[in-house]
Amino acid sequence: MPKARSAEEEGCLSIPGFRGYVIRPQFVTVRRRTPRRTFEIRGENLLARAFCHELDHLNGRAISAASEHPEARPDSAARSRNYGNKASG
Ligand SMILES: [Zn+2]
Repeated sequence: MPKARSAEEEGCLSIPGFRGYVIRPQFVTVRRRTPRRTFEIRGENLLARAFCHELDHLNGRAISAASEHPEARPDSAARSRNYGNKASG
């Protein structure tokens, strides 16, 4: 069974004005281990997207690289990059 994914437009406060379409999973589970415990939190839709976005940052990857995937563009290449002043996430 294929994993559920979606292509949505994202912005980033680290790159003001940049927006791009990024394919992300619709459901994720984030796990954090400490010496005494393991914590898990599950996110879906926007929360899953936010977890993936921030984890990309921790791994040194910016949205500009993630959005270069051509299949993430739902219509035209021109719409995939909007340098307007929309609010960023
Ligand atoms: Zn960001």
